[in-house]
Amino acid sequence: MAAMNDHTIDMDRLFARAKGVIPGGVSSPVRAFGSVGGTPVFVAEAKGAHVFDVNGRDYVDLVCSWGPALLGHAHPQVVEAVQRAAAKGLSFGAPTSAEVELAELIRSRVPVAEQVRFVSTGTEATMTALRLARGATGRDKIVKFAGLYHGHSDALLAAAGSGLATQGLPGSAGVTRAAAGDTIVVDYNDVDALERVFAEAGDEIACVIVEAVPCNMGVVPPADGFNAAIRRITEQHGALMIVDEVLTGFRVGPGGWLGIEQGYTPDLVTFGKVVGGGMPLAALGGRAEIMQLLAPVGPVYQAGTLSGNPLATAAGIATLQLADADVYAHVDRISAELQGLVDDALTSAGVPHVVQHASNLFSVFFRDEPVRNYADAQAQDTAAFGRFFHSMLAQGVALPPSAFEAWFVSLAHDDHAVSRIADALPAAARAAATK
Ligand SMILES: *Cc1c(COP(=O)(O)O)cnc(C)c1O
Repeated sequence: MAAMNDHTIDMDRLFARAKGVIPGGVSSPVRAFGSVGGTPVFVAEAKGAHVFDVNGRDYVDLVCSWGPALLGHAHPQVVEAVQRAAAKGLSFGAPTSAEVELAELIRSRVPVAEQVRFVSTGTEATMTALRLARGATGRDKIVKFAGLYHGHSDALLAAAGSGLATQGLPGSAGVTRAAAGDTIVVDYNDVDALERVFAEAGDEIACVIVEAVPCNMGVVPPADGFNAAIRRITEQHGALMIVDEVLTGFRVGPGGWLGIEQGYTPDLVTFGKVVGGGMPLAALGGRAEIMQLLAPVGPVYQAGTLSGNPLATAAGIATLQLADADVYAHVDRISAELQGLVDDALTSAGVPHVVQHASNLFSVFFRDEPVRNYADAQAQDTAAFGRFFHSMLAQGVALPPSAFEAWFVSLAHDDHAVSRIADALPAAARAAATK
């Protein structure tokens, strides 16, 4: 690295300053590098496949804002759409034709989303989906799977109780036992456990919520027929199935995971990340008869001052219009190349690992057995990941700063970006191998 001069910003000092005014120095915990150690990169700018830190140093980015940047950062047509919208006003608190257009675009790609309600974050989308499921069924309990993430609403921050518990425990300080107690936490990919929970409490369960493909403990594809089994069991017991596509929607393919893994139809589906094109926008959609239970037509209350914001809908529309079959083919190809390169580098260095993927989303677990659930994901060498991560970062490649995250590529990741990553991998793999 170049010697520091008067104009260089010392990121350690900036991080210290940040920690003085912002808890942990960050607006969302994983950004703090807590699980890999060190000082996070303070980003000043991003363009295409690259992010630039406050000193102008460039990194090939495999975070892509945790998913939204499917087209690459600051895609000119998306930026132009937002600028055009901004010139016409930042927020109206009134309906817009852009909301209608974006809802129709979503429905054309994900037919189960017969109707769509816009919100600002994935957290709101899943929280609202739960309330809707409870309103529709008149039941209190919900089922989620261990290690799957659906945002930070209280009911979804529940941890597994012991044994066959049909009561979850608070997964965070500040979540009441009452809020967590209506959440049942089941091991992922375990149909028998789900059957047992429904046998015991089926008539109290409003819904099962599941990530279309779990990506928030690393990428753990559903076992063959697992999602279909959730559908069958929920239907038998009069409960709803909510598929959370906040991360996978419009990223793994034009219709999300539901467009790839056919054969079952959920009642509700949630979107975020790509659907907002990098702006704060998320959505829930589903069968019209259920969606019609939302206020103002139905009794389930939900609202938002900035919901359907005109800048966010402009970014979402531009992104979905540009995200055609060629975009997904490109992202799939780059992803497959990177998976092969990472696998080769770690194999050459003798590092136990397994690369798992679902379409173009992939992650690397530092253990040699396949990962099927959260317990498996936790049984990996996170210290090896930390060494790997820091070597990549020092060589100008920004990976997600945790072993429990998917890696993201975009339309802007070209052969040049791939070769920069390829060049960095051998040393990073050796670092991972060196205790
Ligand atoms: C990111 C994510 C959320 C939460 O979305 P936010 O916009 O961060 O609130 C919910 N579900 C899944 C599957 C996610 O990946």
